[in-house]
Amino acid sequence: MTQLFKSKLPSYVIINDPSSQNKEVLRTPTPRINFPLDEETREIIRQLEEKFDGEENCGGLAAPQIGYSKRVIILEANDEELKKYREDFTDMLPKSIWINPSFKPVSSKKTTDWEACFSVDGLAGEVPRFTEIIYEAWTPEGEKVTGKAKGFLARLIQHEIDHLNGVLFIDYVPEDELVSR
Ligand SMILES: [Zn+2]
Repeated sequence: MTQLFKSKLPSYVIINDPSSQNKEVLRTPTPRINFPLDEETREIIRQLEEKFDGEENCGGLAAPQIGYSKRVIILEANDEELKKYREDFTDMLPKSIWINPSFKPVSSKKTTDWEACFSVDGLAGEVPRFTEIIYEAWTPEGEKVTGKAKGFLARLIQHEIDHLNGVLFIDYVPEDELVSR
């Protein structure tokens, strides 16, 4: 049953997969979402969460990655296993669905670390990101959330918000510095 249900979920849009459809959605800035959420947006959020829950070792997903030009992301940073590999993983975040998220850097200081993405098949690269940010978003219920994030969590937030602006991590990495994973 689980398998049948999962097959109804949209597949990932993958920028470097010739068989992947609708790639322009990954390069298109998403419009802001109005509250209260309409039925279509609620369904997209449901699919995004279902997709996220079906992945292991997934820190975040953005709606364009499953083919929808909607300004919504899902994030989670509470993986004890991942902490072993990311020394700047100090700030935690329970699973969160964020509508219309944005961020501002606290300072110009950046940290470089490895990133990969479900929308970029088989590649990883070292990406400079702001070390500390202030974020702002809304829950699906329309409640505003703000906070400060640093290190890995700040990186994750910047990566996912980039998806809403048509930006991928490979845009920051010279082609000859991308590595296979
Ligand atoms: Zn990504």
